[in-house]
Amino acid sequence: MQTYGRLPIAFVRGNGTVLWDSEGKECLDFLTGLAVTSLGHAHPEVAAAIAEQAATLLHVSNLYYNDVQPKVAARLNALLGGDGRVFFCNSGAESNECAIKLARRHGQLNGGPNRFHVISAYGSFHGRTLTTLAATGQPQKQETFQPLPEGFRQVSFDDLDALDNAMDDRVAAVLLEAVQGEGGVIPASAEYLHGVRRLCDEREALLIIDEVQTGLGRTGRWFGFEHSGVRPDVVTMAKALGNGVPIGACWARAEIAASFAPGDHATTFGGQPLAARAALAVLEVMERERVPERAARAGSRLVEALSKLDGVSEVRGAGLLIAAELGAQYDAREVAQKCLDRGLVVNAVTPSALRFAPPLLVSDAEIDEAVARVAEALR
Ligand SMILES: *Cc1c(COP(=O)(O)O)cnc(C)c1O
Repeated sequence: MQTYGRLPIAFVRGNGTVLWDSEGKECLDFLTGLAVTSLGHAHPEVAAAIAEQAATLLHVSNLYYNDVQPKVAARLNALLGGDGRVFFCNSGAESNECAIKLARRHGQLNGGPNRFHVISAYGSFHGRTLTTLAATGQPQKQETFQPLPEGFRQVSFDDLDALDNAMDDRVAAVLLEAVQGEGGVIPASAEYLHGVRRLCDEREALLIIDEVQTGLGRTGRWFGFEHSGVRPDVVTMAKALGNGVPIGACWARAEIAASFAPGDHATTFGGQPLAARAALAVLEVMERERVPERAARAGSRLVEALSKLDGVSEVRGAGLLIAAELGAQYDAREVAQKCLDRGLVVNAVTPSALRFAPPLLVSDAEIDEAVARVAEALR
């Protein structure tokens, strides 16, 4: 169905940062399928793990245990502080759907039947299912699909007074991105996140951080919220977790996760051996390669080089999730197309800004070459 306005190029093969299209044209992939292939294309260890698991056991459902899912849960739990539980699913929207259902259940059990509201931010993106669309603070995406589920409200991002005013005793959770990705790569300030944490504690609401785009090393830390030092109650993940194999996860502190009883939530595919094995290989490589530190280092190089370009008015973001705001004479979509013509995959995250999200293992030479192609495209 024609839900996307696609660019006229078909990719057939990849290796590391490089993609080849059906005509044999070579491109540097500085978008990674929207922050998904963080270890690059066709990573040998991930590919071998997938192939081995495909020849061993793909799927059994969650009516039974499998031997891979608990290993991924344990690793994610260790990265997130060690006192939680994980629900596996297949996408970012599903991981947020799980978090929202968990917050509603937790709110009902602890605050009564009216405590089911979720407050999120304008400019946010949380997914395209009806419920995650209701949480997504982009009214133009919502209008066509009214009526949406009730109990969702948006306030200005990075504005603590706005949140303070909105937080009454019906609020079960606040749902935020540490860096708004689809909204234009806009980081939340540390002071804001500290204030949000305090408000959530005072008003007995959960703090859910959507790390679907920012999680797993992308911002230069394992999770975007770590830049602020604030600890969320619930964390959602997906994009990079399988390096391209669909898998999502919702982590919650154990006492909150206990609000779900058997039968409250479910998924047929979630956490199946194939996807879990891919995630396990991804996490092993990420830990060994210390991808957060690499992303921080490579990100500084990319930011510095982009900042020097004629035509770039501002560079923002964290680690290897970066936006370059272009001068008023440019249309970012046109510049992204010209980058693609020159063999560089980036996207126009807003009409005036390009987004860069290369593999976390990107080399200095690839960064320099990509920036040279942007410079040419701008010229
Ligand atoms: C991409 C994204 C989602 C939705 O993930 P899907 O896998 O497309 O459902 C949710 N939240 C954030 C922050 C995202 O960037």
